[in-house]
Amino acid sequence: LNPEAFAGESRSVVDFLAEYYRDVGKYPVRAADLEPGLLRKLLPDAAPELGEPLEDVLEDVRRDILPGLTHWQSPSFFAYFPMNASAAGFAGEMLSAGLNVVPFVWAASPAAAELEGVVMDWMGRLLGLPQRLLFSGGGGGVLQGSTCEAVVCTLAAARDRALARLGHAAIMKLVVYASDQTHVTFQKGARLVGIPPSNFRVVPTSAASGYGLAADAVRAAVDRDVARGLVPLYLCATVGTTGLGAVDPVRELGEEARRHGMWLHVDAAYAGSAAICPEFQGYLDGAELADSVSMNPHKWFLTNSDCCCLWVASPRALTSALSTDPEYLKNVGTDGTGNPAAIDYKDWQISLSRRFRAIKLWVVLRRYGAVGLRAHIRRHVAAAKWFERTVAADERFEVVAPRKFSLVCFRLRASFAGDADDVNRELLAAVNASGRAFMTHFVVDGKFVIRLAVGGAMTEMQHVMDVWELLQDKAEEVLQRYRL
Ligand code: PLP
Repeated sequence: LNPEAFAGESRSVVDFLAEYYRDVGKYPVRAADLEPGLLRKLLPDAAPELGEPLEDVLEDVRRDILPGLTHWQSPSFFAYFPMNASAAGFAGEMLSAGLNVVPFVWAASPAAAELEGVVMDWMGRLLGLPQRLLFSGGGGGVLQGSTCEAVVCTLAAARDRALARLGHAAIMKLVVYASDQTHVTFQKGARLVGIPPSNFRVVPTSAASGYGLAADAVRAAVDRDVARGLVPLYLCATVGTTGLGAVDPVRELGEEARRHGMWLHVDAAYAGSAAICPEFQGYLDGAELADSVSMNPHKWFLTNSDCCCLWVASPRALTSALSTDPEYLKNVGTDGTGNPAAIDYKDWQISLSRRFRAIKLWVVLRRYGAVGLRAHIRRHVAAAKWFERTVAADERFEVVAPRKFSLVCFRLRASFAGDADDVNRELLAAVNASGRAFMTHFVVDGKFVIRLAVGGAMTEMQHVMDVWELLQDKAEEVLQRYRL
């Protein structure tokens, strides 16, 4: 790596990206309807024999790649949950990529491992998490790439904690509980750690509980399983479900979990960011009953991908399931002194090699401060509130589930059309085909609903007002067709 060339080329990339961000609002938000395989036709069959200038590469990105992207950083991206980027997140990402250290054991990069511990305690305090989940209270945290990875780690920890007591053969008896709104990654994770697929309980939710998981429904399912000789292992409570943004009652579920010695995980992948605002911290009430909590700063916390925070009450439970001790990685943390300050983060995750994500989150926290981050969350919540109110006031539409954060789920009412699902599907397709906004859907109680997830770093009130205009125009066009 030549430092002079590196500086010049990095500047070209930054200029390229700055231009991209200036123009991102002008691109069709969702990739235009490209033929699958189009890119393969545009690109050569093999990598070049000789290196090429960066300008040529960037030109190809502009010409061949950008038209085929869905622009997640567009201010009119309202699909899935947006993935935040910011100048601070990018600066942190550059430091992480540029320093390119690997804090898998403490000695491999002491300051990187220690910064991770500091940042996880900072984050935990900002979210109002109980002391027992922080290093300062005997727990601790790790930065992983995704909630999916974090969930597998917690399931493995819960499994091994139970099997240490029951013996390995009991794995066939272990049961995992979730709701019909829980992210599918829990099902996948349970399969990966060897829980029999027939022992994954999907407990139904309903409109009456705002699609939150009712503790008495969990209790009934657990009692049935216990009566059959099965062993309740793990319960997931979600704060901000993927489909609807629903919230499970953490405290009640925590008490249920305690009754049976189950591991309670709180998945706050999206809405955890909101907990930096005191008015949202109530949703995490009862987190002191949790064995683990996770959230994704890369969703709604101005932190470029990837970044997932996982806190555990018992680091030992996690490391018992995940630690390895090969000779070539022995260092201060593994020399038997048991120094808790010298963390070997390889024992807190699946992979060995890992990125220096802590520096990215640290830069975000320092550049915005808690005040700046709260303003970011509140700006989106205010825009979502406005959208919810406006949709509810239009008799053609209905809001399908109560909004808690910045996700609004709505649809055209059935009374305006023969098959409301078809009409709503067409409305969503028309909005997305316009290229002026991108939203995705969900199905609840058999109904097709449209999701407006406000959360893009560049999304302002005006973009939400614009998408409402667009929705009204497209709704009129679609309804016209149905009235004929
Ligand atoms: N849990 C919830 C509630 C989510 O909304 C998501 C993703 O949107 C996930 C888990 C999965 O997160 P990741 O993509 O980081 O694995």
